[in-house]
Amino acid sequence: MRRSFFLCVCAGVLCAVPEARAELQVGAAVRVITPDPLLPVSGGMGKPNPVREKRGDLTARALVLRKGEVTVAVVALDVIGFPSVLGDRVRKQVGRIPAENILIGSTHTHSAPDCYAFPDGKGGHTGDLAYIDSVCNKAAEAVNEAVDRLRPARIKVATGEARGKIAYNYYAPDLYDRRMSVIRAVDPQGKTIATLVNYAIHPEVLGNSVGILSPTASAYQTRCRDRTWVRKSVLIMQEVIFPRRLSLAG
Ligand SMILES: [Zn+2]
Repeated sequence: MRRSFFLCVCAGVLCAVPEARAELQVGAAVRVITPDPLLPVSGGMGKPNPVREKRGDLTARALVLRKGEVTVAVVALDVIGFPSVLGDRVRKQVGRIPAENILIGSTHTHSAPDCYAFPDGKGGHTGDLAYIDSVCNKAAEAVNEAVDRLRPARIKVATGEARGKIAYNYYAPDLYDRRMSVIRAVDPQGKTIATLVNYAIHPEVLGNSVGILSPTASAYQTRCRDRTWVRKSVLIMQEVIFPRRLSLAG
């Protein structure tokens, strides 16, 4: 997911409306997608590792923006990746937003179950199909609830440098984009409706071999910001800076 794409989305929402004075509306909703019981977690190709506990919940977070006739949804999932075929399954369950206006990304946590259904080398795969189905259903639920929760809003946008070592790549510790872009939607009283964070990290700090299921970086950022104004409505969108094949291998 590229930063320029987000800007295009915002530009589309803010500008591509027939009535120049149409009111902007924003809604947000969250669904927990932590498997119960817990499932092994995947850091990419290879056998997923069993876990004994969870540190935080995995979530599907949806942000919906509407202005005039244009409605756009952004969905962030705490999984390592989410193939387009699953994205289309989510889109089919959201009748009130055109499919092409529903953007779905993942936080690329290395500490969640496999949603790619990676090949296991024996003719099968390492995904749990019932779990994958539940993630699709809950993601769609979150988008539909976010539509129901649309209310008047203003948008604030900023980009800055993220300091501190949140990102980590074992083969290139210094290789990441320090810029963090934030889109924050507030209601007319100034109360935060949702915050969209676009940050190019590779959340490998925890890893997938320590017996822990976790949203990792997503949880870290949410917890930090909880003290001020973000609360539960923060969406972390990942912008992995490597070619796709390398990000999967990492
Ligand atoms: Zn990775």
